[in-house]
Amino acid sequence: MTRAARACIAAPVTPPPPALRLDLDGAALVANWRWLAGRAGRAACGAAVKADGYGLGAAGVVERLANAGARDFYVATWAEAAALGDWPEGLGLSVLHGLRPEDLPFAIAHPARPVLNSPAMVALWREAAPGRPCDVMVDTGMNRLGLTPEEARSGLLDGLPIDTLMSHLASADEPANPQSERQLFAFRGCKGQVAARRYSLANSAGVCLGPRYAFDLVRPGLALYGGTPGPAAAGRLRQVVRPHAQAVQVRGVPAGATIGYGGTYTAPRAMRVAILNLGYADGYLRAFGGVGGGRVGGIACPLVGRVSMDLIALDVTDAAPVAEGDWIALDYDLPAAAAATGLSQYELLTGLGRRYLRRWT
Ligand SMILES: *Cc1c(COP(=O)(O)O)cnc(C)c1O
Repeated sequence: MTRAARACIAAPVTPPPPALRLDLDGAALVANWRWLAGRAGRAACGAAVKADGYGLGAAGVVERLANAGARDFYVATWAEAAALGDWPEGLGLSVLHGLRPEDLPFAIAHPARPVLNSPAMVALWREAAPGRPCDVMVDTGMNRLGLTPEEARSGLLDGLPIDTLMSHLASADEPANPQSERQLFAFRGCKGQVAARRYSLANSAGVCLGPRYAFDLVRPGLALYGGTPGPAAAGRLRQVVRPHAQAVQVRGVPAGATIGYGGTYTAPRAMRVAILNLGYADGYLRAFGGVGGGRVGGIACPLVGRVSMDLIALDVTDAAPVAEGDWIALDYDLPAAAAATGLSQYELLTGLGRRYLRRWT
């Protein structure tokens, strides 16, 4: 080995920057939170930051929303609580999946509250952390997590210092679905029978159902990140997440040639095609085939051919010349992308992978 080669191996060289990034609009995030807080009236407005802040990066979301005035945050698991690092005093953090025996040492050392979902969790918390506040979930008809209303009023919770008694809506994104009214009725019953400092029912879509659903505290997630949870929010929320990718190569494709795996796309004319460093491994799923695209200087550049694991091809024939290394913005308006792909707005956010550079603006 030459001396130069050995020096190369030994030197601590910074890895090059990724060729794909998420532009995250902090002002839009805060504006969406304020809109939801306004809809919630006198109720406090928290933020669901599970799944790493719906793919944006939970720490960056918490920092911005706490600065804007949010005081209540929700993660799914204690591992997600741990990933947030030292949790600041004065902010509430709730762990939605509650408590397993193996969570206990960590949970007792951490200021977050478990959301107790079952009689066994209630017993575990009573024994391990007597007098420490917790949250409790009641299942009002979703049949997912939570005590049944019968369990909740059975005396099981007597003397437990409950910060927030909550329930979760199953169908609030369909305003005409009568399930929400049934759940509201059931939750009011629980409120009358279980003492807690606060009561909370609404997710993003629940906030849009109106003030009757707000109680003391609302827990939006999707809408903070630019997802539209229902008709009442259409056009009111700002896009927060914008994926961009660099062109790895720009090539000419003659009329009649095919592009990508399976040769599913045949060039109808001589084309210029930009091959971007982004694929289904980055959460840009094959469902974007035939419907996805990006924009160069305001000109729409449709996706052509199949989405590969790490690459896509955009037709840039009609755009200003694109060079290798140029950054191209992908169309990622959540309601539009969900309608086009059949993926949910939640999947479009939480699937965004680990390879992006996440850049708050
Ligand atoms: C995820 C979640 C939320 C937030 O839901 P969105 O639909 O994203 O607003 C609120 N409450 C609970 C219990 C959740 O699991």
